[in-house]
Amino acid sequence: LSKNKGRNRYEFFSYEMEELAIEKRRLIEEIRTALAKNQFELYYQPICESDTNHVQKAEALIRWNHPQRGLVGPAEFIDLAEKNGLIVGIGQWVKSQAVRDAVEFNNKSKTPFQISVNTSPLEIDDGGKWVDQWIEASKRYNLPAHAILIEVTENSLMAPDSAIQFHLKRLDSINVDIAIDDFGVGYSSLAYLQQLDIDILKIDQSFIQNLEKHSNSITLIKAIITMAHNLDVKVVAEGVETQAQYNQLKHLGCDYIQGYLIARPMSKDKFIDTYLESKIGIN
Ligand code: C2E
Ligand code: MG
Ligand code: MG
Ligand code: MG
Repeated sequence: LSKNKGRNRYEFFSYEMEELAIEKRRLIEEIRTALAKNQFELYYQPICESDTNHVQKAEALIRWNHPQRGLVGPAEFIDLAEKNGLIVGIGQWVKSQAVRDAVEFNNKSKTPFQISVNTSPLEIDDGGKWVDQWIEASKRYNLPAHAILIEVTENSLMAPDSAIQFHLKRLDSINVDIAIDDFGVGYSSLAYLQQLDIDILKIDQSFIQNLEKHSNSITLIKAIITMAHNLDVKVVAEGVETQAQYNQLKHLGCDYIQGYLIARPMSKDKFIDTYLESKIGIN
């Protein structure tokens, strides 16, 4: 009996796995098509200065206008794209779109504006091509200084040699700023903060969501902010959803607030309309 069961189970798994493999291959083909047919779009979420409520930054978040499925979020395709090398093509598209948008936002904004751009760890360490592309795009479109902030995850910084450090230093030399995204959940050593010229730390949203529940979170956030400020690094809180969280973070000296409380990510046109041309502040 058990032998039978085992065999059935084996067949069941292999059938499931084959289905999954087919599904994945289909998705990979669709991502290729999406790149070729320009189906990706950058959405923007405002990042607000906690002291003044001014919005002078926004995070670019990729969306896929899928012909059948409608708007698809990055959670559904970035992982797979990373595993198949397609992330390099996606990253190139994101880069050139973000640079053009940064120029446009700065033209339409009365104060200097910064767009923050997510980067996969797999993109950075490619012998310098990734940085070359940034340099080239920023020259071609005449990018203002500090108009782009690159978000890297802590784990991107874990390369054993100093290649990453070298690449990021080159970015710094063309006045592109660097942020560490999802700070607190990775494995980075605090020493990196000092070695690399980091401009911004983005505290992971899990800490923000625990703010009201666990007093430990307050202690931790306080420590992160103090440390960051001592190193001349500014702090963004991600995933801020309630006014209570906002007040608490402002009280703790957090420099910037990002989250559904301010606004959800929106299309570029809506962003320009809401935050740049009409100049309607929040609150
Ligand atoms: P992330 O960089 O940590 O971006 C923040 C995510 O949190 C976004 O999800 C955003 O919509 C969401 N978020 C913002 N405020 C709130 C809030 O108050 N509550 C909650 N629950 N969520 C909030 P999204 O747009 O689905 O992006 C997910 C992840 O996909 C990003 O996390 C980033 O790691 C990755 N990603 C997005 N765009 C790109 C891209 O252009 N390139 C690469 N390589 N990765 C990207
Ligand atoms: Mg991010
Ligand atoms: Mg710098
Ligand atoms: Mg994040």
